[in-house]
Amino acid sequence: MTFEIFKPHEEQLFCAVSDRHGGVSPAPYDTLNIALHVGDDPKNVLRNRIILAAKFDYLSENLIFMEQTHSTNVVVIEDAATNKIENCDAIVTDRPNIPLMVMVADCIPLMLYDPVKRVIAAVHAGRNGTFGDIGPKTVSVMQERFGCDPADILAGLGPSIHACCYEVGEDLADITLKSFGERYIRKREGGSYLDLQTLNFDRLRQAGLKTENIEISPLCTACESDFFSYRREGTTGRFAGVIKLR
Ligand SMILES: [Zn+2]
Repeated sequence: MTFEIFKPHEEQLFCAVSDRHGGVSPAPYDTLNIALHVGDDPKNVLRNRIILAAKFDYLSENLIFMEQTHSTNVVVIEDAATNKIENCDAIVTDRPNIPLMVMVADCIPLMLYDPVKRVIAAVHAGRNGTFGDIGPKTVSVMQERFGCDPADILAGLGPSIHACCYEVGEDLADITLKSFGERYIRKREGGSYLDLQTLNFDRLRQAGLKTENIEISPLCTACESDFFSYRREGTTGRFAGVIKLR
């Protein structure tokens, strides 16, 4: 899928999120699994990464991806000498032709672009990262390192598990209510459901992004079988958000 918000910038920017189709992995990774750490045959994953690079038209040797650890560590990328960034959940660059990738299966792939300073970021915003403010922390790095104005930054939140499916236990629901407010927990049929998209939206707005500059994909990974979902499937693959300055 692609984001409407980035469409006017297509000449300067590539950004898209893959789905699970068109790859070579067998079940339960069928078929376009991009992640090496989930138990899939590495030969299939490497083949899938070549397929994705061709589909999204980037050079695999320039691709930067993360060993995502649900941290709030943000790393600035200056070249493509090291493709895998250890212990990190957000990567930022102002360099052209260096695609940044985030891998997910329910967590939010958050893609950021400042068209004024020409800076991009790929962010892994799961529950822990969101609670730790990974989105706003990435925006801070864009401000401090590159002089970005948050009012210029565009944000796309890709397919992820929504409140229709993201049931959480009472302990976590309580923590969310106390730390962030009632707005992010939906109660129904005796269960509590977390709205991670609205929490990210609000935190990004508080960081200075404009409402009209934030797009949330309505696609829920646990509802939509076109995407991998850890919640629905347990052992499964990962799809990817990729962003690149041209
Ligand atoms: Zn759902």
